[in-house]
Amino acid sequence: MLLDTSPPWDDVQNYINGDWSTPSGSGQDVVNPATGEAISYVGFSSDDDINTAVKAGQEAFNEWKETSVERRIQPLFKLKQLLEDHQNDLAEILVREHGKTFAEAKGELRRGIENVEVACGIPSMMQAGHLPNAAPEIDETAVRKPLGVFTAVTPFNFPGMIPLWFLPYAVATGNAFILKPSEQDPIVAQRLFEVIDEAGFPDGIVQLVNGSVDTVNALIDHDEIQGVSFVGSTPVAKTVYERAAANGKRVQAQGGAKNHIIVTESADLDFAVKKTVSSACACGGERCLANDVIVVEEAIYDEFANRVIEEAKAQTVGYGLDSKTDIGALITSEHESRVRDMIATGIDEGAEMLLDGRDVEVTGYENGNFLAPTVFGDIDPEMTIAQEEIFGPVLGLLPVDNVDEAIEVLNRSDFGNAASLFTESGADARKVRHQADVGNLGVNAGTAAPMAFFHFGGRNDSFFGDLHAQGEDMVHFYTDKTIYIERWPSA
Ligand code: NAD
Repeated sequence: MLLDTSPPWDDVQNYINGDWSTPSGSGQDVVNPATGEAISYVGFSSDDDINTAVKAGQEAFNEWKETSVERRIQPLFKLKQLLEDHQNDLAEILVREHGKTFAEAKGELRRGIENVEVACGIPSMMQAGHLPNAAPEIDETAVRKPLGVFTAVTPFNFPGMIPLWFLPYAVATGNAFILKPSEQDPIVAQRLFEVIDEAGFPDGIVQLVNGSVDTVNALIDHDEIQGVSFVGSTPVAKTVYERAAANGKRVQAQGGAKNHIIVTESADLDFAVKKTVSSACACGGERCLANDVIVVEEAIYDEFANRVIEEAKAQTVGYGLDSKTDIGALITSEHESRVRDMIATGIDEGAEMLLDGRDVEVTGYENGNFLAPTVFGDIDPEMTIAQEEIFGPVLGLLPVDNVDEAIEVLNRSDFGNAASLFTESGADARKVRHQADVGNLGVNAGTAAPMAFFHFGGRNDSFFGDLHAQGEDMVHFYTDKTIYIERWPSA
């Protein structure tokens, strides 16, 4: 099988009950963020499209749940290999519609494939427990059962990885699954489904519907949808969480973020500087794990700031398919304007401009949405740029007296997605581990991204729900436990 990597591409398709179809409603252009050119068009699915997909999912589920788990994981083994084989093509497509670099695109696909690998272990992960002689002559057994049709609604920033936080676990546990990817970069999802089509799942078990707000609401409101996974911005995560819960559904909703790095006096500064700039600016800063408030102990503040400026200046901004590029394009011109507004707000509120990335020019890509790294100094915890998600290559340095003050700054945030700490002090590391109110914490790691066999954390306004994406939490989300209490008295 060959994946078409050369745009322009035909209109984006749905994949319903094993067939390709054009979404019924009108939609929007898909634009290459580096060139400004329309490379495809995505229609939005109607209620009828959703009803057809959910019905097919429900029918397929009735057989799939009775299929042995050993058989259910065979298409996942095949999918893993197909994804490995097509990784370069998928990465190229991803760059063309998202704007990040080829290396970043390959990295995110690798992270997605890890989830397929983990879900191949469902026969072990799904076991729930057995206790002989739980009471006199009574044995008790807990079993996990799949529930039906689940959906996931995913954001633009990791279009190749985030669908795979959910899909492999949903189907391996015996459910049917419907993906609604971001309308901003839906092509890689379609290509993923071209690969999935080869993997050998029964029709209706894995489906793709494109669309926007109305499509999401039709999925959330559908009686036959058992549960909703959402990843995206906080306001939408909250709305989706409330609407799905009001409809009596299982729901996990991961939202936006505002993440901090703490750099202590004892840190290896070379390492901390490199990881700080990469954490804030890689993927154009469009990561929920981007750390962009850098809380630095006063004793090393000036030296650290100077080195960060040098490292940030050394980043090459350009087209993601150019191998020299470190930082690619932002997703849309509207989003670029929003990031520029945040920079202007930082200046208005009195932050010190140490490096201004707004005048960047990328020769040959004059219509692209580019920004170079922007570094603010002496930021204050009350400033907008210290409190709100920027989602661009912008970072702010915030001096503090000591680690206690740094933890205070971090814990004042409304969010709680992630943080990182650079230190050589075990005592400081322990203090931060115990006191930081975040779901993912990196110690001497710039971007706190857990491997697929662990859940992906998140707290406060960064997460609504109980069970997180990835790993064992997904097995709990996608199954319900029944308990058998059995008495077989001896004759
Ligand atoms: P978004 O909230 O705009 O969109 C996410 C998804 O929700 C898309 O599929 C979109 O079609 C749909 N959607 C948008 N508005 C909706 C509405 N009103 N009702 C129902 N559905 C709606 O987010 P985005 O801009 O695509 O992604 C960026 C955001 O996602 C950032 O805030 C980032 O931090 C967050 N994010 C969080 C995580 C995490 O794990 N916590 C991971 C990746 C991205």
